Amino acid sequence: MHEDKWIPTICYQCKAECAILARVENGVVKEVKGNPLAKGKMCVKGMAGITTLYSGERLKYPLKRIGERGEGKFERISWDEAMDIMEKKLRELRDRGEMHKFTYSMFPHSSTDPKWRFVNAMGGFITTGLPHCDSAKIMAHLHTFGCFPNHHIAPIYYSVPKGGIMILAGRHPFGCLDDASVARDILNAKERGAKLIVIDPIFRSEAAKADWWIPIKPGGDAAFFLGMCNYLLTNDLYDKNFCDKWVREGDMDKLMEFIKDKTPEAMSPICEVPAQDIIKLAKMCAQAPSVCVDAFKSIMYGNAMDWGHAWSIFLVITGNLDNPGGQPLPEIAPMAPVEPVPPAPSLHELGYHRTGPNRDKFDYYTFILEPTWYAAQAVKEGTLKVFFASECNPALSEMGSSVWREAMTLKDKQGNYLLELFVVTEILPSETMKWADLVLPDQTNFERWELLYMPWWYTYAHTAAICQPVVEPIGESRHANKVMIELGKRLVPEYFAFKDDLEYYDTELAGVGMSLQKMLDNGCVWSPRTAGFYKYESAGKFNTPSGKVELEWRMYKDLGQEWPSPELPVEFKRGEQEYPFILVNFRSTFLNNTGAWSHNNAQLRDPISGRDRNPLVLNPLDAKKLDLVDGDLVTVTSKTAQVRIPVCLSEKIKPGCAGLIHGFGQTMGKIASLGNWIGDNELIADAGSHLDEQDLRGGEAHVATRVKVSK
Ligand code: SF4
Repeated sequence: MHEDKWIPTICYQCKAECAILARVENGVVKEVKGNPLAKGKMCVKGMAGITTLYSGERLKYPLKRIGERGEGKFERISWDEAMDIMEKKLRELRDRGEMHKFTYSMFPHSSTDPKWRFVNAMGGFITTGLPHCDSAKIMAHLHTFGCFPNHHIAPIYYSVPKGGIMILAGRHPFGCLDDASVARDILNAKERGAKLIVIDPIFRSEAAKADWWIPIKPGGDAAFFLGMCNYLLTNDLYDKNFCDKWVREGDMDKLMEFIKDKTPEAMSPICEVPAQDIIKLAKMCAQAPSVCVDAFKSIMYGNAMDWGHAWSIFLVITGNLDNPGGQPLPEIAPMAPVEPVPPAPSLHELGYHRTGPNRDKFDYYTFILEPTWYAAQAVKEGTLKVFFASECNPALSEMGSSVWREAMTLKDKQGNYLLELFVVTEILPSETMKWADLVLPDQTNFERWELLYMPWWYTYAHTAAICQPVVEPIGESRHANKVMIELGKRLVPEYFAFKDDLEYYDTELAGVGMSLQKMLDNGCVWSPRTAGFYKYESAGKFNTPSGKVELEWRMYKDLGQEWPSPELPVEFKRGEQEYPFILVNFRSTFLNNTGAWSHNNAQLRDPISGRDRNPLVLNPLDAKKLDLVDGDLVTVTSKTAQVRIPVCLSEKIKPGCAGLIHGFGQTMGKIASLGNWIGDNELIADAGSHLDEQDLRGGEAHVATRVKVSK
């Protein structure tokens, strides 16, 4: 092991995977800093990674449940026993011909993540945290210009030129720090003379740094952008050269017909932004050398597909595809496949667990994965029998958590759990592990080897990174990738004939002319600067069936969804009188996407910064009507739940909205349970209560919920 020096590795306190240097003294990590190869910065969340590594609450040994699910009672077992339990149950499932009833919920770290390989080799089913947030955006951009971004593929902010416009729509990169480069590069771009526009019902730190905060009605983004598109198109302010050359023949005429009544004046009452402001931003965009749009929360409402479609059209007509300061069209690194490659399930089978009245219509989608609510339904239906989870927290952090928790405890007439085995891999205690049959102690980025490559690296123009251990592992912790490789050798050896994880990564790297050693020599990152711009020019086409940008979604014609509707999510239209407030949520630094370990990081949840509390944020105008003062205890009621919490009055939230931090209220672990208040998900019924409307119009998981507030 290395000693007393700065050692290059990768931070994994969030999915940005920054290249860092760790200072190790006598086998202990003392300090971390950004590696100059990644522009020499790291964020406060990354620095708190040392607290996770040395937390007194680290899960150090495999644990087996000894009480009922939900009680959180465990005993220590050996790794051999843990491996035997998993092997036995999966063999049993395979012998019953039910491997399709096995799923693994994870956040893949590469396109060939060994966990993913194991599930494919077994014939199981992968459900990731990734598209819970992003499915509508992914679908919209795929359909329109054939690329595959998620919210981690932010615009390349370091390329935004002077005068460029950066729009954050319902995205809080400064607050939750899910990618330090985003906040840093946005602020640097502002220094260069770019403008930051924040469109959001709640004023967070991004808005504080913005040139203009536009408080919009939640779910009003599609209407807002269609209003801008109308103005640009009807006033000849769009990029005609780009559209003439790259938009599929006939689509511009149809767009002109569709957009003609989506005037800023007509859209204004829907999004509650004055028409003159819609026009003002449209004019600014028409004059700017570049415009980029970055969204997250706003793409999770029940009209998310409409918003994604409207956003895609806006990028096209302003010519902001794959240009400096615009929307990048990333490509995944061409790693060498480790042969034989296990077959992936067919795309339709990815929707196997889907329930609800529209389940047959899911052939319309080509990329569908499942949020928590569907997992709960699948358990009830008997179509999910074995469930593995890494870096996700369905018991707490997703819509439908309460339904999921209940499903975990359902039993048959013989008293056996319907879900036969639930395995959680974690670093620190998570809420979800309370329901686990087996808890496997995972390793931090300071203790493990791992090859990382995903498209969001594009923001650094990096193609791959290698996380190398800088200290000995704590306790008997093992990285989930190694565990799945060992299980693969037991159950599907034909796909795991390589020696170990290092040989697996080395073989993959050979595909790009690299090796583990070369990666280490290069500071753990490989940066061929392949980001590039205008790749469709050199390719002579977009990655769509026609090779052109496809504005009209013809495949949805029989559903009447070939063009985006500007309307708000249907959920907002119901019970408006009885439930006058729209629930909006936001993120804090301790949140790490679906990852659970940072909930229990003392450095990120201190009482001084207030992150152990989660009061309901209300506008003082609304509070006055309800006769509330700051700190009053209120009852918040949605259609399915009721909670009692204090209010925090702030003009930083749009009237008519009620704000809560997302994913709050963990009861496992000393640090997280200090803040055992309520999170937004307790009030959000599930992701499937409006299946008829939501399935084909909305995101996979959405947050469109109305509530009432009473003293
Ligand atoms: S942005 Fe994420 S990966 Fe980078 S330093 Fe911060 S926590 Fe670590």
